Amino acid sequence: MPNPASFTRTTKADVASRLAVERDRMVQLACPLKAAEEPEGCWPYSIDGIDRKRLQLGATLRSVGKGTQEIMLLQALRQAVLDANLELVSRGLVLYTFGNASGISREEGLVAIKPSGVPYESMSVEDIVITDMNGRLVEGKLRPSSDLATHLEIYKHFPESGGVAHTHSEFATAWAQAQRPIPCFGTTHADYFHGPVPVTAALTPNEIAGDYEKNTGTAICRLFEQLGTDRVPAVLVAGHAPFCWGATPSEAAHNAVILEAVARIAYYTIGIARDAAPLTPTLHDKHYLRKHGKNAYYGQAKNEDKE
Ligand SMILES: [Zn+2]
Repeated sequence: MPNPASFTRTTKADVASRLAVERDRMVQLACPLKAAEEPEGCWPYSIDGIDRKRLQLGATLRSVGKGTQEIMLLQALRQAVLDANLELVSRGLVLYTFGNASGISREEGLVAIKPSGVPYESMSVEDIVITDMNGRLVEGKLRPSSDLATHLEIYKHFPESGGVAHTHSEFATAWAQAQRPIPCFGTTHADYFHGPVPVTAALTPNEIAGDYEKNTGTAICRLFEQLGTDRVPAVLVAGHAPFCWGATPSEAAHNAVILEAVARIAYYTIGIARDAAPLTPTLHDKHYLRKHGKNAYYGQAKNEDKE
């Protein structure tokens, strides 16, 4: 039987006091870095060891949990890259975690790319990995896509490119496996690609055993040097699958979607007529050049609403 003297009666004042303590604790959790606690002269020089350079690169300060601060580089580019990756999925171009899209900030010399092996359903802006042009990790907790080195070679070769997309989409991959360029049979193709979509030479055993992904990129660039064109923003890598690029990550993903349609239509075309003739150069030029280049007139003029 406990001694009644050891009991202390809980008064209304005790309850109020405990509630006040709890409220303070909650406020502290919600505001991990109160203005009064902020180290003077901290921003934008150094926060938690994160250097000034990253802040200059457009990083955004945010609070995560009590007292934790993180920096995220290139948020808009990260979002564009995430959207491009999800576009490939929503258009049915990607199975499981196959495929990857990236984007580049030419000013900063940084690339944002999908992380390796992360399911698309759970992928977030934070998961997108930032690297430099040598593939060194600049920001991110995850490993970048294993095809990063191929993307980097494409960015180096095509200075106008702002995004790269790689898929194993069914029909384009079938052409890549057959090691046949996709002929331009119609205007759907000509609207996007000025000439056949070419296929690379097969990599040599040494190229495969060495820096495989970089050598894949080198094979793509070598092919386009031989072709002397920058008007076909897509390629079939022999025995592998397509890579596409564009001015933005969104445009690269869009070109990947169009390439798959073009590959499918071309397959049906030769199924109907094995000896089907490619589009005439005149019609091919007409369709490509009305959408691209300095005399393009397809679509709405950018300054139309001002006229
Ligand atoms: Zn692949």
